[in-house]
Amino acid sequence: MATSSSTPAPTAHPLPSYLQAEHLGPWGIFLQQVDRVEPYLGNLARWVETLKRPKRILVVDVPIHLDDGRIAHFEGYRVQHNTSRGPGKGGVRFHQDVTLSEVMALSAWMSIKNAAVNVPYGGAKGGIRVDPKTLSRGELERMTRRYTSEIGIIIGPTKDIPAPDVNTNEQIMAWMMDTYSMNQGSTATGVVTGKPVDLGGSLGRREATGRGVFTVGAEAAKRIGLDVAKAAVAVQGFGNVGGIAGKLFAEAGARVVAVQDHGGAIYREAGLDVPSLLKHVAEKGTVAGFEHAEAMEADKFWDVPCDIMIPAALEQQITKANAHRIQARMVIEGANGPTTPEADDILHERNVLVLPDVIANAGGVTVSYFEWVQDFSSFFWDEDEINKRLVRVMQQAFAGVWQVAEQHKVSLRTATFIVACERILHTRELRGLYP
Ligand code: GLU
Repeated sequence: MATSSSTPAPTAHPLPSYLQAEHLGPWGIFLQQVDRVEPYLGNLARWVETLKRPKRILVVDVPIHLDDGRIAHFEGYRVQHNTSRGPGKGGVRFHQDVTLSEVMALSAWMSIKNAAVNVPYGGAKGGIRVDPKTLSRGELERMTRRYTSEIGIIIGPTKDIPAPDVNTNEQIMAWMMDTYSMNQGSTATGVVTGKPVDLGGSLGRREATGRGVFTVGAEAAKRIGLDVAKAAVAVQGFGNVGGIAGKLFAEAGARVVAVQDHGGAIYREAGLDVPSLLKHVAEKGTVAGFEHAEAMEADKFWDVPCDIMIPAALEQQITKANAHRIQARMVIEGANGPTTPEADDILHERNVLVLPDVIANAGGVTVSYFEWVQDFSSFFWDEDEINKRLVRVMQQAFAGVWQVAEQHKVSLRTATFIVACERILHTRELRGLYP
């Protein structure tokens, strides 16, 4: 069948119920974001329906033996949102609130993110609904291995490559790599990224997301005349993303004045001592109880006087209930989906610049790409090389998005979606429909 751009748009059946907006859950938010870019897509808009339907959704039962002899069942997911530009790519999260709607949205944001920084991947995401803190190490390992085996039918180094996300880490990636490799009879390091460096991981991967957050933050600051060395920064979540971003901002001279996490919030106007705070978090698992700061009610975090706010925890944290309270000139989304669409509009009206997740936290997957490339060639770069390449990719991608935002007078989120959707739908059109 001819697929020239003059062919009329395909008629779409209504979205099946499980794909509909669901009271603006995360997937509903993604659908709204796509609707906003549709008018800018020209002839490619005829393919836009592709983005509203994940390519492949796998729901798996994950049964394990608990240490006390009982059997527990967990629900696991792997969603491949789009593979037009390359294999699926995206993390796996273990969290008690994981739902299919969330994993679908996260997989879709991966498609956008990967296209925005132009790494040759589609988008995917996985998760298990579990509070991993309730599991012993042995139970965690058995659950990870059984989940990997269940999704083994759709993942692989050239098919779909998982990575760490909320509550998953290098050790979990090592178990995933081993399980996949045992099932197929040979070691396949390239099946996951974010592995330990001794097992085909990449130097700089652990810090990459935070480094990317800092890099785009510094680029945006230059453009709005904000001096990073004099800026006050507030960070939500002080783990792999917020902790590293906070550290890099402090090294650049900024004051990290407030940090909030699941355990509480702390404040110090003169700036927190970030290295000691990182040590405290490594030992205690939360910023709460850090001696050299004032404890603060968690909700007061949103009122803190600051120039830069970095939500680096979970989705839907900046909402219409707190968006008008934020004092910052710039919000850098270290987390995925931390701002609801209503809050996005409020921040836009109040002239707060939002650096959206789909570009701001793309540093992690960018170095995941470097890791995967290194695994294929079994030749490893030094950390300096990785960091330089990461900064170059982030700066270039950000400059492109900034230009599109100025050209169309749209937010950076819509601009990133325009750049990414054009790339995805262009490859979709080039590849054509099979059969
Ligand atoms: N989980 C990270 C993200 O949301 C990284 C994904 C990856 O490296 O594949 O971007």
